[in-house]
Amino acid sequence: MQMQVERQPVPLRALIISIASLVVPVVGVFQLPDWTSSGAGMLIWLTALIPAFLLSYYRGMAGVAVALSGGMAVITATQVSISVFSIAQPDWGLLMAIVGVYLVVSLGVATLSELLLRERRKAEEVALLDRLTGLPNRRYADMTLEGSFAAAERGKSLTIVMFDLDKFKAVNDTHGHAAGDLVLQAFSEVLKTTTRRENLSARFGGEEFITVLRDTVATDAEKFAERVLDRTREKLFPWGFQTASAGIAEYEKGMGSFEILLSAADQALYSAKENGRDQVCIAPRFDQSSRGSGQRVSVTTTTVPIHPDPRSTTTLIWVVDDDDALRGVLTRVLEKGGFTTWNTGNPREALDAFASTEPDQRPTIVLTDVIMPEMSGITMAEQFARLDPLIKVVYMSGYVQSKVSWEGVAGSVVAFLEKPIEMKRLLATMHLVKNREPLKGERVIGPEKDDPLGPDSTP
Ligand code: GH3
Ligand code: MG
Ligand code: MG
Repeated sequence: MQMQVERQPVPLRALIISIASLVVPVVGVFQLPDWTSSGAGMLIWLTALIPAFLLSYYRGMAGVAVALSGGMAVITATQVSISVFSIAQPDWGLLMAIVGVYLVVSLGVATLSELLLRERRKAEEVALLDRLTGLPNRRYADMTLEGSFAAAERGKSLTIVMFDLDKFKAVNDTHGHAAGDLVLQAFSEVLKTTTRRENLSARFGGEEFITVLRDTVATDAEKFAERVLDRTREKLFPWGFQTASAGIAEYEKGMGSFEILLSAADQALYSAKENGRDQVCIAPRFDQSSRGSGQRVSVTTTTVPIHPDPRSTTTLIWVVDDDDALRGVLTRVLEKGGFTTWNTGNPREALDAFASTEPDQRPTIVLTDVIMPEMSGITMAEQFARLDPLIKVVYMSGYVQSKVSWEGVAGSVVAFLEKPIEMKRLLATMHLVKNREPLKGERVIGPEKDDPLGPDSTP
């Protein structure tokens, strides 16, 4: 898919100013024909330059062309009509001079704005490209996914593939970081040459890549992913060959947000790794993949204590988020609120820590970001829940709307917080989740997000 940086739309107020600046001289000419048809009065036509300046900012050369033709048409029509109806006799020489100035200034403005527009587009493209591989970056992938997800909700099919290089850390450790970079570039070449123009492959983070396949179902995406893995295996490095694993997820009604689609692909990728790597795995259908038995908790800040609760000092919360700044703030607020915390920016590290921690030292609640480069928070929580079915999970999300169905996600008690996160709401949610008894083997769907936590939300 080609990078597209949009030209800015012209706002209504700029259009109104443009039209007004053409109306002013026309009204002037008919109201004060003698003054505006000779000498200084004729300079009133210079207001017709305003649209050229305004539209050049929004539309570059094209904007100036429109302004120029509009201005010329208005000048000509007005001057010809006042002379035909003998309202006044314009000073034609001066008028020509004004038209000349008008043309020269407009063309100058157009050239300048076109240069600026090109520079801006270049800068925006750089911001959306990954420097090492030349592939679109995570930000661009997110933008594309949001758009494709919206199209999928209107009935188009959509499948995504997540790729992750196998045992890549070992390449770095054994052959050096530069060798690792070469492998990343080689894999990116495979992706670039295998991806069709209408689709998008991007570097999602570290050694993780994503392909967004429009109008494609999972079985076709599987063929594509197999081809990528085959071509990757064919590339030879001084120490041998590199393999990759892939996870596929297809859009299904009710997913609600592209994050859910992403985490489905992420879970499929995790399965591919667990089954021995160098293979493609397709996520189970969304409607069959409900796994948790959690109850969803809704929160309003007014219904729960937001002051530090002395009983909560023993409640341990693990904070997992790749955003260092946010993680720092969350940890500080939770500590202030009377909780004990541990945090990490890497979900894999969290998994390892969880597995090697004695059951009585494990956290009561895990507060996790949903989409992180290494692994989604949903996949991570799933693994936690396998080890400890009573684990409570609070998901944080920047995209998820309240209509998203969260029943399927792991956790004996599940809540979610929408970013940006209000700190009051954070503490309120944590206290609620902490105090809620986990349900065993029974699914209860909580009230809608903004409902007060009424009696009907408790089983
Ligand atoms: P698995 O098969 O389970 O995916 O194992 P892995 O070793 O590939 O997984 P892991 O996620 O532990 O390792 C990812 C490594 O990727 C760790 C990190 O140092 C490396 N990495 C991330 N970004 C870059 C980069 O830009 N260049 C290089 N050379 N290495 C990178
Ligand atoms: Mg890897
Ligand atoms: Mg990885």
